[in-house]
Amino acid sequence: MQLPHLLNDIDGQLAEWAAARKLPKFRVKQIRRWLFEGRAGEFAAMSDLPQKLREELAESFTLWTSTITRHTTADDGTEKLLLTLDGGGQIECVLLRDKVRRTLCISTQVGCGMGCVFCASGLDGVDRNLTSGEILEQVLLLQRLLDPQERLSHIVVMGMGEPLANLAALLPTLDQIAREDGLGISHRRITISTVGLPKQIRKLAELDTRYRLAISLHAPNDELRNQIVPVNSKMPLGEILDAADYYFEHSGRRLTFEYVLLSNLNDRPDHAQQLVKLLAGRTALVNVIPYNPVAGLPYGTPSVEAQQVFRTILEAGGLAVRFRHRKGDKINAACGQLRRSSSLTQISG
Ligand code: SAH
Repeated sequence: MQLPHLLNDIDGQLAEWAAARKLPKFRVKQIRRWLFEGRAGEFAAMSDLPQKLREELAESFTLWTSTITRHTTADDGTEKLLLTLDGGGQIECVLLRDKVRRTLCISTQVGCGMGCVFCASGLDGVDRNLTSGEILEQVLLLQRLLDPQERLSHIVVMGMGEPLANLAALLPTLDQIAREDGLGISHRRITISTVGLPKQIRKLAELDTRYRLAISLHAPNDELRNQIVPVNSKMPLGEILDAADYYFEHSGRRLTFEYVLLSNLNDRPDHAQQLVKLLAGRTALVNVIPYNPVAGLPYGTPSVEAQQVFRTILEAGGLAVRFRHRKGDKINAACGQLRRSSSLTQISG
């Protein structure tokens, strides 16, 4: 029989478990500390718990449900895990190192149902939502890759899947990550990236979660966005921007708009000019991401000159712009690529 996954509803499960054994409250706190701060890999390592309790924990719960199928490290310190889930299915998660910053990028679904044409994650559609425990498991597994003196500082929900299509599982996990007796990462250091689902953006605003929101725009007009981000035909730009403004009013957080720069598709100077017009007057950052090519897809990265022209127009138009450094290229760190290359190797090998 399969044991329940402790990382799903930690508090509810531990409260019940502790009550059944009439344990004092501090025992639950100790276990939580081991999970979040202690980076414990197994119950047996929770050394300030009586041996018997450690054994009982191991008989009552599983801590990890996934297996690390691949672990790759790039020269710049980026590490990426390909996880095989219980019952099959694979997801990816990444640890990025940048000066003192330690950022984890996590997935929320197996595959993705949004179908953005350039993205590896959505090529085969979505299989299922991850559970809260599976989302948290990525964070705790990656955290265990840090050296003892390294501190986790940021979380970005930018891995495989559409986070706002799985809010029910994502929010309890982010709450554990943000809590003082969890990982203590402040809400403004947690970013949720979405294709732009207006209803869910509004819901997030009303829940007053105050996470940073990044919206994957990729085109400055509906006609082009319909081509690149097919769900746009059901949820056009105007609706998304209204919802984004609503989020900004509620949260006070500067919005981020992501723009994957695709050669000869959305990288022309007039696209940059349209983007300036579209976003004018908003407290927003435009995060331009030069495309990371995906094997088998017909999209390319614009030349450095084209990127520079695009950037200059945005900046001259008064937008705050950041070009995302390409980290971990060699290990396929863009979302969905490791899983894809792994399955391609399996097919070809
Ligand atoms: N579904 C969410 C989050 C996942 S992807 C979203 O759409 O935002 C996180 C970001 O990486 C998105 O902006 C996505 O468009 C971008 N991305 C996906 N594949 C990429 C690639 N091959 N090169 C560069 N950026 C990519």
